Amino acid sequence: MRRALFLDRDGVINIDHGYVSRVEDFEFVPGVLTFIKTAQEKGYLPIVVTNQSGIGRGYYDEADFWRLSEYMMERMREEGIKIDKEQIFFCPHRSDEGCDCRKPKPGMLLSAQKRFDIDMAQSVMIGDKERDIEAARQAGVGQSFLVEPNRPIDGIIL
Ligand SMILES: [Mg+2]
Ligand SMILES: [Zn+2]
Repeated sequence: MRRALFLDRDGVINIDHGYVSRVEDFEFVPGVLTFIKTAQEKGYLPIVVTNQSGIGRGYYDEADFWRLSEYMMERMREEGIKIDKEQIFFCPHRSDEGCDCRKPKPGMLLSAQKRFDIDMAQSVMIGDKERDIEAARQAGVGQSFLVEPNRPIDGIIL
């Protein structure tokens, strides 16, 4: 079994401008790529778990989401991070759709657990909203950190 580094996207990996869907608006939070790289070297598998209700609201579609994800992954790979689309989980639903994947529900984390045989108790979640932390708690993630949105990750030693 492996341990995972679960990462929220908007506000943690990139600056949250609200419904970010275009490469032009995707701005990495300073230091986050180094943080992920270091975590990977310590044996954590990076997994992105992101609510994308902009899809359910019709602001952008899944093709836009994946186009942006490809850009994000390309930049990560340039920094030496091993990542592919299997490691990206998103919820396209609006909150009124009552799905099992939108955080604070644990659905995306549990799907990742199944896909990668993750040891949840040894895993870590980093998010900038309470709902990220709640999803991790419900999924049995051992350690969670609520960070300031859009700010460099500071003081977390994995
Ligand atoms: Mg966020
Ligand atoms: Zn959903």
